[in-house]
Amino acid sequence: MGGKQLDMATQLVHAGERQVPTAVPVTTPIYASVTYTYGSMAEVDKVFGGEVPGYVYSRYANPTLTALENAVHALEGGFAATAFGSGMAALHAAFLACDIASGVTVLASQDLYGATTGLLNNVFSNFGVNVVTADYSELDALAQKARETKPRIMVAETISNPLLKVCDLACCAEIAHAAGGRLIVDNTFATPYLCRPLELGADMVVHSATKYLAGHGDVMGGIAIAREEPQHTALRNIMKLAGGIMSPYDAHEILRGLKTLALRVERQCANARTIAEKLSADRRVARVHYPGLATGDARRRLERTLRPGYAGAMVAIELANNTKEGAFRFMDALRLVVRSTSLGDVFSSALHPATASHRDVAPARRRALGISDGLVRLSIGIEHVDDLLADLHQALDASAA
Ligand code: PLP
Repeated sequence: MGGKQLDMATQLVHAGERQVPTAVPVTTPIYASVTYTYGSMAEVDKVFGGEVPGYVYSRYANPTLTALENAVHALEGGFAATAFGSGMAALHAAFLACDIASGVTVLASQDLYGATTGLLNNVFSNFGVNVVTADYSELDALAQKARETKPRIMVAETISNPLLKVCDLACCAEIAHAAGGRLIVDNTFATPYLCRPLELGADMVVHSATKYLAGHGDVMGGIAIAREEPQHTALRNIMKLAGGIMSPYDAHEILRGLKTLALRVERQCANARTIAEKLSADRRVARVHYPGLATGDARRRLERTLRPGYAGAMVAIELANNTKEGAFRFMDALRLVVRSTSLGDVFSSALHPATASHRDVAPARRRALGISDGLVRLSIGIEHVDDLLADLHQALDASAA
């Protein structure tokens, strides 16, 4: 620049930028930079060509996202993790990476999150995908259906929504593989702290990181973890080309959330167990759905799938007054437990499945699935359990009045 003092307009743009830190930051910074520069075009060429590792453009990769992806990979195992802008973006990419295509059958659990069912029935089915559903807790019937339909993809949730049935993932993986297909597992409700589906034979794991992984109700994100390299490469291509990426700000929040996942889940599970046990002895509650109370086959599925001694932190209750009005009175009376459509946060929350997650399911189908109008799904947080119980008790009084 010939030693000439730069104009202030130029300095404003460039001063202080592009300094390489002399010390390693102890936590991953938010890399908000969209692009990356190198000392020479020869270096850029090598990075672009994949000859040397490096970053070129944040839709392809970003250091903050890499840190999060590496962290989740460490937790779930498999080949590698890829972050997306939401759980649904991750699920969409997971189906594509598992070779969903025209003429292919997807054998889906009948209990999937409503938007996942919607993605299959309203989006993929438009491209000639054949969607079949089954009760994943009836393993013999499931195996029979897989033999008949030869699905390329089977998809389950570790703990189903909203009735919280634990899936025997090892058995389902065997069924999928025997039929020549792959198993995708949505591990959102369980978290890697309670279950590692890839170790049980799953081919792809997906999280809505919006929930337990982040844990504070202030960020959205999704992560897919592939067991093998080809599916991982496919995920990265979909991320690059469809562009449903996670922002580095959100990745930073989720990375921070992960640090307390074990502490949060420990406390949430302990609170949930106490609440489930107390409410199952309460006359104002007709039925409590909580995997830790299960017996027989359901108990075996729990023991084969989740970390020993744990049953998750979700509890669904069917009120004795099993009506929408009764459920609304109960939820309106809650003072501490937040009426909210999400789950897995540090605060406890309540959702009415019939009018929220399963609103678009026809009432007769809802009833057949066991989702009654008086069912309320509780996501238990880290508050003191006595305060939660007091809130639930006073709301049950208000509902019964
Ligand atoms: N999977 C499960 C089990 C969910 O509960 C949700 C959202 O509630 C999703 C996936 C979708 O995640 P997101 O809202 O982050 O797209």
